[in-house]
Amino acid sequence: MYPDRVVSGMRPTGALHLGHYHGALKNWVRLQSELPCLFFVADWHALTTHYDDPSMIESSTWEMLIDWLAAGVDPSQATLFIQSKVPEHAELHLLLSMATPLGWLERVPTYKDQQEKLADRDLATYGFLGYPLLQAADVLIYRASQVPVGDDQVPHIEMMREIARRFNHLYGKEKGFEEKAQEAVKKLGSKRAKLYNELRTQFQQQGSEDALGQAKAMLDDAQNLSMIDRERLFGFLEGSRKLILTEPQALLTEASRLPGLDGQKMSKSYGNAIALREDKDVVTKKVRTMPTDPARVRRTDPGDPDKCPVWQFHLVYSDDATRQWVTKGCRSAGIGCLECKQPVIDAIIREQEPMHERAQQYLDDPSLVRAIVADGCDHARKLAQDTMRDVREAMGLSYN
Ligand code: SF4
Repeated sequence: MYPDRVVSGMRPTGALHLGHYHGALKNWVRLQSELPCLFFVADWHALTTHYDDPSMIESSTWEMLIDWLAAGVDPSQATLFIQSKVPEHAELHLLLSMATPLGWLERVPTYKDQQEKLADRDLATYGFLGYPLLQAADVLIYRASQVPVGDDQVPHIEMMREIARRFNHLYGKEKGFEEKAQEAVKKLGSKRAKLYNELRTQFQQQGSEDALGQAKAMLDDAQNLSMIDRERLFGFLEGSRKLILTEPQALLTEASRLPGLDGQKMSKSYGNAIALREDKDVVTKKVRTMPTDPARVRRTDPGDPDKCPVWQFHLVYSDDATRQWVTKGCRSAGIGCLECKQPVIDAIIREQEPMHERAQQYLDDPSLVRAIVADGCDHARKLAQDTMRDVREAMGLSYN
C-alpha cells in the first residue's frame, strides 16, 4: 500500500477566527505529529464561488498562512502549500472529469445547498459543479489515506472513493500486467512468493478475507519491493488491476464547535467572531458585551446556562470546577454575568498569547512565510508528479 498521508485544505478567507481554530486547526496541529500531513490553501476553490471578485485571494492567502503558523502548524512537520502552485491538481481534475458521470456531481448534497445559500451569486457554472471533483483531485493526487472532515463532508469523501475505484477499474489494466505481477511475485523470495500465491488462491477461489488480510500484511512488510511492484501485487491479489489511485478514508474530527458571540455559527461576515490573533482589549470588550440569557435582566434574576451563548464558551474553555461554579451561580443568581465571563476572557487571552508570539516573526519578516510555502510547494509537486506519471501512463498519455 502507499504510505499513510493526510491531506486537508482551506479556502483563503483572510484572517481566521477562533471557530476555525477549534473546528480544524487544533486538529491539524495534533495530526502533524502523528502522520505525514499536507495542508494547502485552496485558492482555486475560492474562485468557484468568487470568480467575479478575485482581488482578495492573494492577500487572504498570506494572512491565512500566518494564522496557520500562529496556531502551531509546524512547517518542519507538515507540508504547507498553495493549490495553484501545484498545477498537477488541475491536470488530474481534467483527466478525472473525462470519466466522472455528471450525476455523481449533481447529487453531492452541498451542491444544491450552497447554491441556495449563496443565492446572490450566479453559481450555475461549470467550475462550481466541478468543485467536488477538484477536491477529489486535491486528495487523490497525493494518494492520501486520510482526510480530516466533519460529518457534512463525508459524502464528498465517499465520492472521492468512488472516483478512485472507477479510475482503477478503467485504467488499472496495465499492458503486460500479469507478467509484471508474476515478476514482482518472484522478487518476494521463494518462501514468501509461495505463501503469496497460496493466499491469493484462497482469496480468489474461496473468498477468504483472512487470507486477503494475511497477504496484505505480508506485502506491507516486504521491504525490498518498489512502490509500483507492491501496488501491482495488491492489485493482483484481488483481481488483475493495478491500484493507481488510493481510496481515502474520512477521518472524522472530534473538534469542539465554538459558536459566535451571539450563539450562531462563528463567521466574520456575521460580525460575531473573535479573530485568531485578536488584540487582548478587543477580546475583553467582545466577551464582556456578549448577549446572555435574556431572562437575566437584573443581577438578581436567576438564569439558565443552556440559554446563554457564554455557556458554550465555558464548554470549550473551562474545567469542570469552573463549569459547576457557573451552573450553580447562574441558576441561583449567585454570580453576575460579567463575573461569569471573566474566566472565558482569561482563557482566550491565555490561548492566544503563544499565537501572537509565533505570528510576530512572520509579520516582521514576511519572506519567511514565502520561503516555507516555496519549500512546501516543491515537496507537494514532487509527490503530485509521482502520481501523475502513473496516471498519464495508465491513460495512454506517457509518450515515451
Ligand atoms: S451567569 Fe453566565 S451562564 Fe448565566 S446568563 Fe450570565 S453569562 Fe450566561
